[in-house]
Amino acid sequence: MKIIVQKFGGTSVVTTETRAAVQKKIQQALKNGYMPVVVVSAMGRKGDPYATDTLIDTLKDVNLSVNVREMDAMMCCGELISACVMAATLQKAGINAVALTGGQAGIVTDSQFGAARIKNINTEGILRLLDSNIVPVVCGFQGITENNNKFTTLGRGGSDTTAAALGAALHAAFVEIYTDVDGIMTADPRIVKAPSIMDHISYAEICQMAYNGAKVIHPRAVEIAMSSNVPLIVKCTFTDAQGTLVTNERLVGGCGCDIAIHDTMASGIANLTGIAQFRVALNPQDMAAGRKLFEDLASAGISVGCLNLSEKEAMFAVFNPDVEHTCKVLEDTHFNYELNEGCGKVSVVGNAMRGVPGVMATFVTALASKNISILQTVDSDTTISAIIKEEYLADAVIALHKAFKL
Ligand code: ADP
Ligand code: MG
Repeated sequence: MKIIVQKFGGTSVVTTETRAAVQKKIQQALKNGYMPVVVVSAMGRKGDPYATDTLIDTLKDVNLSVNVREMDAMMCCGELISACVMAATLQKAGINAVALTGGQAGIVTDSQFGAARIKNINTEGILRLLDSNIVPVVCGFQGITENNNKFTTLGRGGSDTTAAALGAALHAAFVEIYTDVDGIMTADPRIVKAPSIMDHISYAEICQMAYNGAKVIHPRAVEIAMSSNVPLIVKCTFTDAQGTLVTNERLVGGCGCDIAIHDTMASGIANLTGIAQFRVALNPQDMAAGRKLFEDLASAGISVGCLNLSEKEAMFAVFNPDVEHTCKVLEDTHFNYELNEGCGKVSVVGNAMRGVPGVMATFVTALASKNISILQTVDSDTTISAIIKEEYLADAVIALHKAFKL
């Protein structure tokens, strides 16, 4: 049996018309001799009646500080509605299909509500359905705790993670991530007018892009696919475009795709909003205090990114919701600091940049040409990022997209 996983995002399952397009993609897979395992997100985006954000608001209207357990159970309803509606759509078209919650699909997680990690997947139930030619329609983004059967969610964008994890557990031939754009693009299409669609990108590169804000796929999904070497294909529900293949190799065949790879220096530009930068004065005579500060931030549950550390100063960024808490830790430990709020991060990602001279010069010159001040840079051998004021983010993305000839 050739199993594939087909994941459909919120905009793909929102109306009768979009669900007809989903149905066509599932029918095509069956016609091509694959047994599809379908994963769905909640229907629509903020404002739609059963979208995740609508469900969150409904509960917050009742109680702003509602318990995380109830919030997770509430959020799980969105995918369950979507899975039932999609299964009913398929049944009406004569396709044998059943809706499954994450738990019924065998997805067991830890009990970190809101950001649970998949611990294991018991595939017996799904395999039995596939053996009987029944298409499972699995609720994305959710699982169930091991011992006490509580609903958990995997964090926003978690349906991608469900799809990749099922792909890995079922040894699927590949995992298709269907969305509302034709594939992974060289930059956010809401910022750059006509970004190119990539034929192919490596797991490592799209993982970097996703961690740096490219919303098209969840980075955890990419990590899971990478560790089990399941190819991912990001493509559009509403067109016949071939989409973007994500694998380890730069040169690949298979999955029905003939791919020409263009080895440009950078692969894509990513952007992230909603961060703040801290500059903390350190005492060179007391390095232990500096080290302890990061232990204190970690034990306060604050995730620190973009760290630049010298004898006299530590610069780092945190997400907006952690700003107040970070200030408190710094004040409690008597550090002097400067806070830059309203920041964003722009990043250039590309495996081919590794060791190439002049990449940093191209990056800095592009931002300078738009008079954008860089608050801080961080780089690895495949990514260069700059923290800048959020209001310059769009200009920065456009300038870098041009400078790196994407
Ligand atoms: P879904 O609900 O299908 O999971 P998402 O909204 O999570 O869809 O992701 C798709 C969106 O990601 C696109 O509509 C696009 O605006 C945005 N996006 C951001 N960066 C990129 C990129 N580099 N390539 C493609 N899409 C991107
Ligand atoms: Mg998504």
